Amino acid sequence: MAEITHAEVGHKSLLQSDALYQYILETSVYPREPEAMKELREITAKHPWSMVMTSADEGQFLSMLLKLINAKNTMEIGVYTGYSLLATALALPDDGKILAMDINRENYELGLPVIEKAGVAHKIEFKEGPALPFLDLMIEDEKNHGAYDFIFVDADKKNYINYHKRIIDLVRVGGVIGYDNTLWNGSVAAAPDAPMRNIVRYNRDFVMELNKALAVDPRIEICMLPVGDGITLCRRVK
Ligand code: SAM
Ligand code: CA
Repeated sequence: MAEITHAEVGHKSLLQSDALYQYILETSVYPREPEAMKELREITAKHPWSMVMTSADEGQFLSMLLKLINAKNTMEIGVYTGYSLLATALALPDDGKILAMDINRENYELGLPVIEKAGVAHKIEFKEGPALPFLDLMIEDEKNHGAYDFIFVDADKKNYINYHKRIIDLVRVGGVIGYDNTLWNGSVAAAPDAPMRNIVRYNRDFVMELNKALAVDPRIEICMLPVGDGITLCRRVK
């Protein structure tokens, strides 16, 4: 297998050496990656935005987490071609549910045949459109409050704070929200005048604001993990 360098994985690894990341992938992740996830990863790799796909090690982490917490009713904001969605769908029990939202249906449809072939499409309800208005509608209905065991947020960083204001009421007490990319290419700890790609600079302040807000939110317990580009797990405690 060709070696994956940091340049190729981009923000996917915050580890200090390519060799160590490669070791994790080859020792722990790839040998156990479900065939369907491998296929979806390889299809997505040919897409021009493949850089934003959830990395295979993070997919494995999500799968383990969902099983550990016995998640059944879940939500995903930011689907792209569906790698984390497929990881979730495979991890949930047969009657598990995922409400998946994305403004782009075309990319979801690129991965959908693989999800269907894997026999887990029946767990997914896909909503096309911006997530915020969907969430606003959902919170109007009391029965959605506390209804979710797990919510994965992996969409537009500028809205994470707005998502948090809504989904904190939708996740159950004891349930988990995962905010992805909270280390944002390491830029959260860089000097403000350090050289950064435009996309990194544009979103850096939003990610830092979110991190600050989560750190002092008494409704959650948090844990920031250096997996992928950083994922902050928030367990709702009240
Ligand atoms: N979780 C995906 C995976 O495993 O490959 C990656 C998601 S990608 C980082 C971010 C996605 O968020 C894109 O597909 C984009 O279309 C979507 N997105 C951006 N703004 C959005 C919004 N306001 N509401 C819903 N989805 C949005
Ligand atoms: Ca991500």
